[in-house]
Amino acid sequence: MSVIRKNLITNDWVIFAPNRLARPKELKAKEQDNIAVLAARPAHKADCPFCPGNEKPEDGVVFTIGEGGNWRVRVIENKFASVERNVEPHKRFTHFRKELDGFGIHDVFIDNPLHNTTLALMPVEDITTLMRAYHRRYLEVLSNERVKHAVLFKNQGIKAGGSLEHPHSQIYGLPVVPFEINVRMREMERYFETDDNCLMCDIMRDELTQKERLIYENTSFVSFMSYADLSPYHLWIVPKKHNHSFAKVTEQELLELADCMKVVFSKMFHALHNPDFNFVFQSLTHHDEGAEYFHWYISVIPQIKIKGGISYAGGLYVNPVMPEDAAKTLRETAISNK
Ligand SMILES: [Zn+2]
Ligand SMILES: [Zn+2]
Repeated sequence: MSVIRKNLITNDWVIFAPNRLARPKELKAKEQDNIAVLAARPAHKADCPFCPGNEKPEDGVVFTIGEGGNWRVRVIENKFASVERNVEPHKRFTHFRKELDGFGIHDVFIDNPLHNTTLALMPVEDITTLMRAYHRRYLEVLSNERVKHAVLFKNQGIKAGGSLEHPHSQIYGLPVVPFEINVRMREMERYFETDDNCLMCDIMRDELTQKERLIYENTSFVSFMSYADLSPYHLWIVPKKHNHSFAKVTEQELLELADCMKVVFSKMFHALHNPDFNFVFQSLTHHDEGAEYFHWYISVIPQIKIKGGISYAGGLYVNPVMPEDAAKTLRETAISNK
């Protein structure tokens, strides 16, 4: 029997129509084996613009972590950005027509010098270095007074909209607040007003007690499957300390975030055979200082094709995998380095 559940954070209804065939074992046979694809890739490619040795003076380097040719993370301006960083976002707003000049910051993080790696394979020290780079650039982008919102995200693999093999992530600094974050803000604000508490704090406390959808926790972070996740294996990484912005994390929390990322992505790598995926940091900015109702978190969305697949019609989601089953699979997936 199928069930219909409500996702309280996004205000979406999701139809869960569990499909016996929607298990990772079956996935393996049907999907191209992404683990083999990655293993066949060289560690360095002569024609990859992100590989060490192929740096160009016109790259528009924002900063690097690590010196010269031995960088560990490199942050550069996106050459194909759809927005311009040196434009003033002049507004032309009338009642029906709202337009502003295309100001925006769009940078690329080259996550690691290795061409053929991914978060699951990177040593936790390298993930920590990447998290420090994220945090540093996030603060820098927010310090631009024209920026109203910053989005930190990763599209890995063709199915996730990733265009380059070399592991990389991106950040946008925008003069507007995008729809998706707006919805989440409104839902958390509404809950805060009626229940006088943070929705995510309450959900997290409940998930930590119930444990059914839990994947992993350490001192500062917890990863679980949402009660009504919009697609199979769509999971969250949530800081235990209430905070509206990723900008506020401490060095100790960055270390624990790296540990949580390592575990979660390794489990995903093995259970789902190195799936293409997206992640996005759902976080507010310093402009929202005092926004007690919002709790920042990371949304991780594996892009997997499953029989009886995910469909989406006019705001209604159909998910063939129950979050409890997905969480159990990931919890029970052994990873060698943890
Ligand atoms: Zn490369
Ligand atoms: Zn909270």
